[in-house]
Amino acid sequence: MTKAVYPGSFDPVTNGHLDIAVRAASLFDELIIAVYDTPPKKLLFTTEERVALMKQAVSHLPNVRVGLFNGLIVEFAHKEKAHAIVRGLRMSSDFEHEFEMALMNKNLAPDVEVVCLMTAQDYQFLSSSLLKEVAQLGGVINNLVPKHVVTALKKKYSLPEESVSRKGGI
Ligand code: ADP
Repeated sequence: MTKAVYPGSFDPVTNGHLDIAVRAASLFDELIIAVYDTPPKKLLFTTEERVALMKQAVSHLPNVRVGLFNGLIVEFAHKEKAHAIVRGLRMSSDFEHEFEMALMNKNLAPDVEVVCLMTAQDYQFLSSSLLKEVAQLGGVINNLVPKHVVTALKKKYSLPEESVSRKGGI
C-alpha cells in the first residue's frame, strides 16, 4: 500500500492546494494532509480552524485524511508509515525552496521520497497570503477557494455577505 503525506500551513486551504491533493490522492492509496500546527509565519486561522476548513474541503475524497503535525515532517511521515512527501510547485521561487527542503529531508530520512506536483495553470499565481490580502480588501475570491472558505474569510475580516462577490482587487 502506498501512502503519502502532504504538509502545509493551509491558512486557509485554496483551490491550488486542493488541486494538488486530488491529484496526489489518485497517485497514492492513501494521502494524509498534514496541517502544520505552528509554522514560522503569522497565521490568520487557528490550527483548529485550518484543520476544520481542510476536512470539509476534502470530505468527498475517500482515501484522504487530515492530520496535524509539529516538528519534522519526516518524523510525521515515519510515524504514519508514509513513503512519500507531496509538495506543490508554482514558480521558480517555489522550486528553490522546495529543492532545498527536499534535499534536507532526504538527508534526514533517505527512505522517504519527495514528490513535487506542478501547479495547475489556473492556480499558478494563487497563494494563501495573496488570497487573504485580496479577501480583506473585498476582492472576488469565489473561483479561488471552496465556498465554505469564502464564508470563513468574510467572517474573519467582518465583511458583509456581498463583499467578496463584487468586482475588486488589490
Ligand atoms: P507552507 O507553509 O508549507 O508553504 P502552504 O500552505 O503555503 O504551506 O503550501 C503547502 C504546499 O502547497 C506547498 O508545497 C506549496 O508550494 C503548495 N501550494 C500552495 N499553493 C499552491 C498552488 N496554487 N498550486 C500548487 N501548489 C500550491
